[in-house]
Amino acid sequence: MKRLFGTFGVRRIANQQLTPEFASKLAAAYGTVVTGKVAVGGDTRTSTGMIKHAVTAGLLSSGCEVVDLGVLPTPALQFAVRNYYDGGVMITASHNPPKYNGIKFVDSDGIGIPEDMEERVEDMYFDENPDRVSWDEIGEVSENSGIMSEYIQTVINRVDSDAIADAKLKVVVDCGSGAACFTTPYLLRMLGCEVTTMNCQPDGFFPGRNPEPTPENLKELMNVVKSTGADLGIAHDGDADRTICIDENGNFVFGDKTFTLVEKHMLMENNGGTIVTTVATSSAIYDIADEYKGKVISTKVGDLVVARKLKDVNGLFGGEENGGLIFPDFVYGRDSALATAKIVEIIAKEGKPLSKLISELPSYYSVKMKVGCPEDRKVEVMEEIAEATQDHKVDTTDGVKIFTDEGWVIVRPSGTEPIFRCFAEAKKPEDAKRMAEWGIKLVKEQLKL
Ligand code: MG
Repeated sequence: MKRLFGTFGVRRIANQQLTPEFASKLAAAYGTVVTGKVAVGGDTRTSTGMIKHAVTAGLLSSGCEVVDLGVLPTPALQFAVRNYYDGGVMITASHNPPKYNGIKFVDSDGIGIPEDMEERVEDMYFDENPDRVSWDEIGEVSENSGIMSEYIQTVINRVDSDAIADAKLKVVVDCGSGAACFTTPYLLRMLGCEVTTMNCQPDGFFPGRNPEPTPENLKELMNVVKSTGADLGIAHDGDADRTICIDENGNFVFGDKTFTLVEKHMLMENNGGTIVTTVATSSAIYDIADEYKGKVISTKVGDLVVARKLKDVNGLFGGEENGGLIFPDFVYGRDSALATAKIVEIIAKEGKPLSKLISELPSYYSVKMKVGCPEDRKVEVMEEIAEATQDHKVDTTDGVKIFTDEGWVIVRPSGTEPIFRCFAEAKKPEDAKRMAEWGIKLVKEQLKL
């Protein structure tokens, strides 16, 4: 049983649970397990410098060499570790509010560390003491300030930059004052786009908007795209691993649509391949795979699970419905720079507005609902729902996904809150709503509410 790590590493309120003392000891525990040269970096939060220095001290005390990469997106750190280092530590709370921060450990492939390694780090933290090397074996700190330009240049080399430059696209970028301030605006300008920036000054107070790229938080971006006659809006979360698009009419494009669009082009360019996504992603992913010689593997919900599966099966491309796109031969994790470059490449080469490209994709409607459920009853409720829906086709990879002629609903317990989430998708909006309500009813019936 894990005691510290959640699905996103360790994430807490800075200087309450997440103190320098805690961070330093945890990093020493990780440094004892990993050994070698470890890269550290972080997002733009006010507490990132404090936590990063504590982490650095812990790593040095356990005998690791530390390479400071500065403030950068999570995928840029993953890229650096995969190419040059034995491990990595990213200080970020991703899309959470400014008072939070977190610690994510990365293995030498640049993937978030696997569960058994998390458990070893926890055991080391709680039960054993991390190694503290003797005075003459303490590691040294160096810097690598060139990683960001290498990361950006690698992305540029992977797309048709001439086609993008010829299209002279107007792009509005909203980095939410997060880590993408150092990548996306520069990348798009180097690709020849005309860039307008919003919230592109790094600021740990996130003064412009909340760091989560939801429709409510991106209203201003939508207005600016529309009023300036731009071709596209791009937004990221705090640590710049997720990418959300706004079309030329100022409409929010849901992550599963962007995922499907990029999937289509990846399959066309590579003459097919294996796509990995979670059970909660749109059926459109499967429709496109059928049409363009792809094969889809579905996993439990979580970006790390998708990234690891992509590595295991040597997959072509993967992602999630929240705007996280994974290009496994570049970074084993959600990457925002290559996602952004691919999207502008697709618009440039197709010569069509984004809204048109999206309208050509298979269309489904989805509805998300939630219902309360005590922690200690989640397992029993799940089992009973699987039992009660036996007459239907079900998939129990994660929660219970129930298929009907109209579509599907997935009923799954939240990993972090005392609730069940019901997520339904169908060809017609009324069917999606009805199926989500059915999922809620199934949970309530088992709870005898
Ligand atoms: Mg993130």
